[in-house]
Amino acid sequence: MNPLEQEIRALIESEGPIPVSRYMALCLGHPRHGYYMTRDPFGASGDFVTAPEVSQMFGEMIGIWCAEVWRAAGEPAKINLVELGPGRGTLMADVLRAAKIVPAFRAAIDVHLVETSPALAEAQRKTLSASGATVRWHESVATLPGGPLIVIANEFVDALPVDQFMKTETGWHERRVGLREGQLAFALDPAPFPKIETLLPQGAQARTGALFERRDLTPVREIARRIAADGDAALLIDYGHENSGFGDTLQAVRGHKPVDPLQGPSEADLTAHVDFEALARTALREGVHTIGPVTQGQFLRNLGIELRAENLKRGKDAATVAAVDTALARLTGPSPGMGELFKAIALVHPAIGDIPGFDT
Ligand code: SAH
Repeated sequence: MNPLEQEIRALIESEGPIPVSRYMALCLGHPRHGYYMTRDPFGASGDFVTAPEVSQMFGEMIGIWCAEVWRAAGEPAKINLVELGPGRGTLMADVLRAAKIVPAFRAAIDVHLVETSPALAEAQRKTLSASGATVRWHESVATLPGGPLIVIANEFVDALPVDQFMKTETGWHERRVGLREGQLAFALDPAPFPKIETLLPQGAQARTGALFERRDLTPVREIARRIAADGDAALLIDYGHENSGFGDTLQAVRGHKPVDPLQGPSEADLTAHVDFEALARTALREGVHTIGPVTQGQFLRNLGIELRAENLKRGKDAATVAAVDTALARLTGPSPGMGELFKAIALVHPAIGDIPGFDT
């Protein structure tokens, strides 16, 4: 049994079954044993591959998007470019390289990375050391400096903890993580969950057995508040559903395969799908506009990824051409590609005009 499982069992023995959000937060972010705190999980030899790790084209398109937002914001001489959960730093490195196409934009950028994992912050430092950019790290969005900002985040929101609720014959109950026959197991809180109506999608008809997930969107709320107060925009890309609905999407992935979320806590990546409707509602309440979501495939095509792929292939050998084609299909194509399940949404200050990427 790993050290985190020992700790979680002790916690359950003293406090009773714990909320799924608490379990998720411990698995991912426990200061000593958390999944992200100790390792670099990305890439072929790791547990999963994210879009920036598939191809430089992904970050380049986002770099173009950022430059367009900067233009729409009136080309300020200084801009804070913020990334939430930057992983290895690959996305930011590609964004900064693409930004050189617009030298005044590149010169205006101060980079701020929001990262809880010391191991990944170190990886980001290495990746970005040659970029020439001023980079600062933050453990949460609370310490970001004031002033206008452009925020990007890929596969950040899916790692924010969710709570789960299930409808039974006796009403709605919270699903928790407890112990059964000495093993970690899901268990419904016997007490009915109060005020569930305020959380459910409006007009939703839930059958017995329906499961509802609610995410703690505090970092998104704070980013939206900052944008509403100080200006500019955020781009969030993640996998999930456009409309709120019912279903258990908690998933653990290890070595590119799904595993039991309660098996070996902290040894697998643990995420849940993003409810884009709930995310948009949270952001709108803070006074920003939302644009999208559109599918990742649509978003990247709108920004010109197909042309970029053609340019990368021109004059290259067959192996390179095939690799670019494979990466393009993976980023923009339907399942098993990321093009349809993944979606992009923008949170925008009302004064910002047209921004690219979201035409359908
Ligand atoms: N954006 C990267 C990595 C995605 S994995 C990519 O696309 O490759 C999620 C990232 O978010 C990791 O860097 C993880 O350490 C970070 N993270 C998770 N929860 C966080 C939180 N609450 N605050 C800040 N960073 C967090």
